[in-house]
Amino acid sequence: MTVLPEAGTRREASAADRLRAVLARAAQVVGADRVTCPVTGLGPNVGLYRSRSVFGVVRPHTAEEVRRVVELFAAEETTAVLHAFSTGGNWGLGSREPAQDGAVVLDLSGLDQIRDVDVAGGWAVVEPGVTQARLARLLEGSERMLNVTASSAHTSVVGNALDRGVGLRHQRVEDLTGLEVVLPDGELIRVGWWPDPDRATPVYTHGLGPSLVQLFVQSALGVVTAATVRLLPRPEALRVVRLNFAPDQVEAATAEVRRWVAQGLARGVVKIYNEVAAGAYGGEPGRYLVHVCVDGTPEVVDALSGILTVEAVRSRAFTAVSDFDAVDPSAAHHDVAVRVERAYAGDPDPTDALFEAKTGRPAARLDEEGGFLFFLPLVPFSGAALARAHELIEQVRVESGIRCGVTFNALGADVVDCVVTMRFARDARDGGEAGRAHRALDRLYELFTGEGFIPYRLDIDHTDWAGRLPAGTGARAFARRLKDAVDPHHVIAAGRYA
Ligand SMILES: Cc1cc2nc3c(=O)[nH]c(=O)nc-3n(C[C@H](O)[C@H](O)[C@H](O)COP(=O)(O)OP(=O)(O)OC[C@H]3O[C@@H](n4cnc5c(N)ncnc54)[C@H](O)[C@@H]3O)c2cc1C
Repeated sequence: MTVLPEAGTRREASAADRLRAVLARAAQVVGADRVTCPVTGLGPNVGLYRSRSVFGVVRPHTAEEVRRVVELFAAEETTAVLHAFSTGGNWGLGSREPAQDGAVVLDLSGLDQIRDVDVAGGWAVVEPGVTQARLARLLEGSERMLNVTASSAHTSVVGNALDRGVGLRHQRVEDLTGLEVVLPDGELIRVGWWPDPDRATPVYTHGLGPSLVQLFVQSALGVVTAATVRLLPRPEALRVVRLNFAPDQVEAATAEVRRWVAQGLARGVVKIYNEVAAGAYGGEPGRYLVHVCVDGTPEVVDALSGILTVEAVRSRAFTAVSDFDAVDPSAAHHDVAVRVERAYAGDPDPTDALFEAKTGRPAARLDEEGGFLFFLPLVPFSGAALARAHELIEQVRVESGIRCGVTFNALGADVVDCVVTMRFARDARDGGEAGRAHRALDRLYELFTGEGFIPYRLDIDHTDWAGRLPAGTGARAFARRLKDAVDPHHVIAAGRYA
């Protein structure tokens, strides 16, 4: 870090001088080489969102360093707010960028300890810099597995869960059983379930009284320095059944898939890809692609994949069904099918082959070279609602010329996480494809929310939607009262969901 001038008295110092002085003290806590100030921003982001002005970046390596840094900011009441990220792979929603200008960024990728793992007990204690690849590798060959996402293997388990990310088994928040949090005044607390060093206690998130873990998810109430994460029992056998259907069958085919989910024929998150999204998975041109995972004992897997095949044929909604692509090396999509099955089995591909097929770039170069946006609404799981979502995507294509990828992630029999992606050439935001993609994104917000399909994650340019979407009576005011009570000087950035 460049040598910073000492600030004068608190009253005399300008806000910027005071901030620099606090950062100089932070440098004494974390080491001068782990504070950057001034910075010209966090660099490009793959969404081509406007780069926010950032006052400085602090890269602590331990929870105690985070605690002391937050304490410094709390004591000085600077005008800057703290924005934390874990590994910063929030591509399409803003990457590492804070939603507000003028933040000091806490890059927590250096907190990368797997503090403890208990395979028999089914839990791990991990810090924000621990990637899904690292934790999964540790579990290889064991009786437990991690619920992994389809993002890069090198993204954070904690960061994804804190934004309510979606894994292949279920939404990641369901795996968060406890959080270690630095509160805005610098106090470090632990909420939810934590291992007892003297005896084995059941892994149970809620404890007695109000359940506190969820208070810190999509939240501006603290900085998370570690989490206890559930490890899932590893199935003895697993298979992914692949099906195709024509776009004019969206309603009938998805209604049939919904029936399978409701009747327990599928395990984990059923994924339904439109023609664009299916491209990376070797989908048939002009067809939707469905991945249905079945697992359990080998006999259960045989029985369920057989039943699914019979049901698919009987429904007449599908053009193809196959359950052997991953075991037959001569099958057309053998490699892809193997990678997909491994991911469902908790084994993220460290080479990121499927990720790169979707983004066209390795994760490490995505922010510099790629163009990619996400829109993430929830849609009721019914054939009619998913057919309507399909129509809205078509409308956006006609209006903007942008062909969106869509993945319907079934989060159970009632709700679908509708992942809308746009890949675009990295040209000027005001014109060209990037500009059209951003206008399409605005349109997606309008059209989907108009239909009642409300987003569950926001990007940094659409934070106003948090206030525009329906909430329970008094809920927003109560959340503001909580924020004011816990963080009266607004030390932690409001973030995307305030
Ligand atoms: C091709 C592709 C596929 C993808 N597939 C998926 C998928 O299957 N499922 C999915 O959910 N996402 C997916 N994503 C989106 C994204 O890449 C992942 O959600 C990724 O895990 C987020 O990056 P991260 O883990 O580094 O989290 P970060 O970017 O570090 O964190 C995400 C946000 O959480 C908050 N946060 C993080 N850490 C902390 C902390 N310690 N304390 C307080 N707040 C914190 C911050 O607001 C931060 O912006 C995909 C993206 C692409 C490009």
